[in-house]
Amino acid sequence: MTDPLVRVRGITKAFGDNHVLRGVDFTAQAGTTTTILGPSGSGKTTILRALNVLETPDSGTIGIGDVEVDFGALPRGKAGRAATARLRAQSGMVFQSHNLFPHKTVLENVIEGPVQVQKRPLEEAIAEARVLLEQVGLAEKADQHPFQLSGGQQQRVGIARALALKPKVVLFDEPTSALDPELVGEVLSVIKDLTQQGWTTMIVTHEIRFAQQVCDQVLFLDGGVVVESGPPAQVIGDPREERTRQFLRRIL
Ligand code: ADP
Repeated sequence: MTDPLVRVRGITKAFGDNHVLRGVDFTAQAGTTTTILGPSGSGKTTILRALNVLETPDSGTIGIGDVEVDFGALPRGKAGRAATARLRAQSGMVFQSHNLFPHKTVLENVIEGPVQVQKRPLEEAIAEARVLLEQVGLAEKADQHPFQLSGGQQQRVGIARALALKPKVVLFDEPTSALDPELVGEVLSVIKDLTQQGWTTMIVTHEIRFAQQVCDQVLFLDGGVVVESGPPAQVIGDPREERTRQFLRRIL
């Protein structure tokens, strides 16, 4: 087996005296989908945000591709900021609600990152954005504004926008929990397509059935540590740990 694309070792994070992550360890291979399950408040979102360095861990190491940052030994000042910026650029985040720019068209929303942040040529960014909009089933909406789209369509634009930055890993933080139930399926189906196209994804979700059908690895997080990890048939279908069983009984 090749080296894992995502390598997380001993990550800790406290907010004041709330020790949310207490030594999180896991890896994920390139091209796989990982679902993070766990009770509310167990640190699922914090671990995703740490991967994207929206939260800075207190200690531990995160590696994605050939970038590795040891947060316990992060240099102060400019060198530290450069290291975290390199790590952040390795992943793209899709939030619970899409945060699209309301005054920009769908296409303009998708090219914003590549053009403004990555300084890529406009024509190239537009061509790639059109391919991505096709992939999420919104090619014909390119010139519309977010308010003209349904919540599910807006979320799919959010996905195209994250992909436009060509991240090594796409992180989804409860991507369907702000949607009306009838719109959940279309967003999950787009995520499923991405996983089949070879994107590496990590998803915090309560959609257990989706996790069972689509993902390669489940991490069950509780009390700030990974209590159990493995393929869904094991962690969801035949959990070893009592805490995992209790959690699944409550939500299934
Ligand atoms: P989950 O996604 O599993 O529900 P979170 O990672 O969102 O859990 O949160 C874990 C804990 O960390 C919660 O107690 C939450 O209140 C706390 N927390 C998360 N982010 C912050 C923050 N920026 N400041 C203070 N506390 C936070």
